[in-house]
Amino acid sequence: MNKEKLFYRALAGEALGVDEGLWLYEEAPGGELMAVADEIRRRQVPGDRVGWIIDRNINITNVCISGCKFCNFHCKKGDEAAYITTLEEYIPKIEELFRAGGRQVLLQGGMHPQLGLGFYTTLFRQLKTRFPALKLHALLSRPYVKGRDWYDFLWYSARGIQPDLALLQNALQQHGPWADKPIQVTLSWLQDHMAAVIAGIDWRAAQLDVQRFLPTAEQEGLRAWGIDLFMQQLGRVCHIN
Ligand code: SF4
Repeated sequence: MNKEKLFYRALAGEALGVDEGLWLYEEAPGGELMAVADEIRRRQVPGDRVGWIIDRNINITNVCISGCKFCNFHCKKGDEAAYITTLEEYIPKIEELFRAGGRQVLLQGGMHPQLGLGFYTTLFRQLKTRFPALKLHALLSRPYVKGRDWYDFLWYSARGIQPDLALLQNALQQHGPWADKPIQVTLSWLQDHMAAVIAGIDWRAAQLDVQRFLPTAEQEGLRAWGIDLFMQQLGRVCHIN
């Protein structure tokens, strides 16, 4: 491989392959790698102020009903290996993180069928009470379409699970387009805003985004994805049909 050509392609915004990245990691001088990385960073975030955050990933549970094809982590409820991380198990991991200078935990894990929203909000509250300086990277409001989010929406709406409006309002006012805005989240507000989003989504792209994670047998169901299906499910959630 040729170092200059790889640098040139990276600086032109082209994604390098895994083998190319590995080769650069092993062969290119650290100073040159840093200079190229800094130039690419500078184009996205101009200026001389650069920061980073030390965080740690902790898995909430390995029980998951999704079964993504690539995942060798998940298992079924009742399996010998199944676990839900307890508060006592989080504490030493977070203490270790703090000792290493870190302040953020990325909480991730499987979709456990028995863990409702209350489980997560209680967990977040307990962690923040125990570690007030801790930053939680857990629930987010994405500014782009991710097929997986809509897969989850179907999962919840098909089971008649209703949104907790107070919690939703609180979350929306903390992050995303409604941050710090005086919104009043009602079922009718939710219906109006979600209907506008559903009408504007490229459902074919959303299908393709999630298709690669699903077992073949489940991929067939993606053919129904479109405005009609999601409007119908939105109606179930908001009790308006
Ligand atoms: S949702 Fe996450 S934990 Fe569940 S199967 Fe997919 S990758 Fe694995």
